[in-house]
Amino acid sequence: MANKEVILSAGSIQSPQILMLSGIGDKDELEKHNIALQKHLPGVGKNLQEHVDSCILVRSKKRDGFTSSPMSMLKMLPDTLEYMLKKKGKLANSMLEAGAFLKSSDELSRPDIQLHMVPLLYDDNGRDIKLMGGHGYSCHICVLRPESRGSIQLKSNNYLDDPIIDFNFLSDEQGKDRKVMIDGMRQVRKIMAAPAFDEYRIDEMHPGFENESDESILAKAKERLGLVYHPVGTCKMGHDELAVVDTALKVHGIEALRVIDASVMPTLTSGNTNAPTIAIAEKVAEMILAD
Ligand SMILES: Cc1cc2nc3c(=O)[nH]c(=O)nc-3n(C[C@H](O)[C@H](O)[C@H](O)COP(=O)(O)OP(=O)(O)OC[C@H]3O[C@@H](n4cnc5c(N)ncnc54)[C@H](O)[C@@H]3O)c2cc1C
Repeated sequence: MANKEVILSAGSIQSPQILMLSGIGDKDELEKHNIALQKHLPGVGKNLQEHVDSCILVRSKKRDGFTSSPMSMLKMLPDTLEYMLKKKGKLANSMLEAGAFLKSSDELSRPDIQLHMVPLLYDDNGRDIKLMGGHGYSCHICVLRPESRGSIQLKSNNYLDDPIIDFNFLSDEQGKDRKVMIDGMRQVRKIMAAPAFDEYRIDEMHPGFENESDESILAKAKERLGLVYHPVGTCKMGHDELAVVDTALKVHGIEALRVIDASVMPTLTSGNTNAPTIAIAEKVAEMILAD
């Protein structure tokens, strides 16, 4: 119930979940969970996009990068003190100080790959803690405009249950995302083989130089697939069959309900999503005030 309107801003994972729990979504999906239908909108929770990422890992001769080994942690005590007292030194590093935007093909008008260089053996947002105990560096390759589409589905009609998140990475039928990922891995390999790295490089730990064919590079990339926490698209703006909100972000067919968050982006931006989300919110705030 609302005097004026309801604004849903729970993000790309939970906005569609809340809509579905409230009876707005694909009617077959809602029926499965015994949820009374308010409005059949098949696009709720569909069209999920995220920046899929993989990496090249290189073992280093030098031991001046970052590692989570107990000995290195001890050695970093002076750095810790320096940072605490002066906010300077090794620990003032953002961990992502080098990056690049690349094109997978010269025909493109703008880059479709983003690189993040990390002075640490690091994959999938640091979930492999053992890996981080070694000495080395990594370069992450992110597909900026993926074609693959995933989904957010309900596990049950209990709002306390997490939804099912299926990113469906690298799954597009034409194989464009797979091609971009393979190309990115190959370009990074070349960068890592540059003479500037000679004094650091021992060998390519992952994928490993024995993996040369497209198939084996892709298989290896999949072993260390990660994401960049940029989910969008699950309540997309538009007027096609899967659109959930109109250009004022009002939910189609429901009075006085808007969704305002990253879920309304029909396609993923070619970079980080926080600023675009704020821009969307500012734009619609102006529309609401004008109303
Ligand atoms: C670990 C991480 C790192 C990131 N780093 C960057 C970065 O460096 N640069 C960048 O541009 N972007 C970054 N992002 C992405 C950026 O944070 C998002 O694109 C942006 O926050 C999306 O905004 P949003 O409003 O759609 O969702 P959110 O910011 O997620 O806001 C949704 C809000 O709804 C609340 N909520 C959800 N369900 C309910 C409920 N049932 N009841 C009440 N409240 C609820 C949540 O608690 C949350 O506060 C990062 C994201 C993560 C997770």
